[in-house]
Amino acid sequence: MDVIQNGINGQLVNSKTDKHVPVFNPATGEQSASLPISTVAEVNEAVESAKAAFPAWSNLPPLKRASFMFKFKQLLDENADNIARAISKEHGKTHADALGEVQRGIEVVDYACGMPGLLKGEFSRNVGPQIDTFSDRQALGVVAGVTPFNFPAMVPMWMFPIAVACGNTFILKPSERDPSAPLLIWELFQKAGFPAGVFNIVHGDKSAVDALLDHDDVQAMSFVGSTPIAEYIYTTGTAKGKRVQALGGAKNHMVILPDADMDQVADALMGAGYGSAGERCMAISVAVPVGKETADKLIAKLKPRVESLKIGPATDADAEMGPVITKMAQEKINGYIDSGVEQGAKLVVDGRGFKLQGYENGYYVGGTLFDNVTTEMTIYKEEIFGPVLQVVRADDYQQAVDMINDHEYGNGTAIFTRDGDAARDFANRIQVGMVGINVPIPVPVAYHSFGGWKRSLFGDHSIYGPEGIHFYTRLKTVTTRWPTGIKAGAAFAFPT
Ligand code: NAD
Repeated sequence: MDVIQNGINGQLVNSKTDKHVPVFNPATGEQSASLPISTVAEVNEAVESAKAAFPAWSNLPPLKRASFMFKFKQLLDENADNIARAISKEHGKTHADALGEVQRGIEVVDYACGMPGLLKGEFSRNVGPQIDTFSDRQALGVVAGVTPFNFPAMVPMWMFPIAVACGNTFILKPSERDPSAPLLIWELFQKAGFPAGVFNIVHGDKSAVDALLDHDDVQAMSFVGSTPIAEYIYTTGTAKGKRVQALGGAKNHMVILPDADMDQVADALMGAGYGSAGERCMAISVAVPVGKETADKLIAKLKPRVESLKIGPATDADAEMGPVITKMAQEKINGYIDSGVEQGAKLVVDGRGFKLQGYENGYYVGGTLFDNVTTEMTIYKEEIFGPVLQVVRADDYQQAVDMINDHEYGNGTAIFTRDGDAARDFANRIQVGMVGINVPIPVPVAYHSFGGWKRSLFGDHSIYGPEGIHFYTRLKTVTTRWPTGIKAGAAFAFPT
């Protein structure tokens, strides 16, 4: 049985903890590895290593820092397939889906390779007699990231490439469910030649996260995960004077206007609702057809598609969707489906009790489709994070907009229509951070930034892209005057 190692100061090390938790292969339900719940002393050791590496690393010319990043990107490209396999084994998502996540992570590394130009400051000559001013952004110091299970490669890569290219040193506490992919990425990072201590990885649970939050030398914390934990990280971290960006959960709606192409809509909903078994923070979990005819047409198109979803382990090249992450997640999702039925929603396709021959102990939930869901129901209010798509019928466009704006989450949303006027109005008025117009999963490219609104993001900065650079740096402005021989004399009034 593999025991997952930490990566501290450039070395793979065994944790000295006496507490371990199992890592499972969700496709089979078998334990595949054992993960250490690292001790506070081990977290502190990682912080020490990052702190020691910071002065030299932050002083390296940005081009030199970027040269390591280019090498890292090349290694990631060469090893993308291996990383994707490690993801699928512990997460359960299909190989194509895992490769897609790795690719989106590599794009952030690509963006970070251009950091020298992105860090360029501003200069103003002659702001006063013989006085010039320049300003630029400097690294914060030691920064940390805590990441969720659903994108074990991509989400860490939303953080550390930007942070270290800006001159910070980094500590990652990945999800305890699927630690192998981030560890593989850490190994490639060391292979690229970055100095020891620039990037450290420590496995564990709440105690490791709290040790990072408690540590005075950790300047900033990036978090991606569920909303209650995001809120906890934000309030605890900011109370300790740290800079925090904490991205939380979601409930993403897709509005379908009567003029939309229904086949295109149904295909988009299948991918966005059931891809990765619905375990994406940008998954569409609520379809909002406008008008009865649109809703009836939509259900007619979706039902056969959901019934014929190909579910299987990642080793099955034909599988469109894999298992969910844990037995607990499987039970929770089934519980939500029970509650939808109890509260009066119409269950069109029931995924409970789905069994796959030869994989009876895997954590599978079949594709599930609800119609006639109302906004008072628990399945509408809460994030299910499983392959459960619900249809909430809206009488008109305004009702659809109000429904989305009233929801506690505001991560992503989409509208499908041929009406440019309606689409423009939607993009303008909707209280959601990322909007797709005929695009079901509008995850911004690496040179834009990712972030929701309302209780989907705590803090002032979205993640990666230009907002990521702002998060991991602070502004310094220098005003200079060189002696010219002119004697100005002492001045006691405020300088103008
Ligand atoms: P989670 O909140 O359970 O765990 C996330 C991380 O927090 C893990 O590393 C975990 O070890 C740590 N953690 C768990 N409990 C903690 C506690 N009490 N104190 C401190 N740290 C703790 O989330 P998850 O189940 O791994 O991931 C799924 C969630 O993440 C969903 O809600 C999903 O919407 C969200 N998510 C959001 C985004 C986004 O960009 N907004 C992206 C991906 C996932």
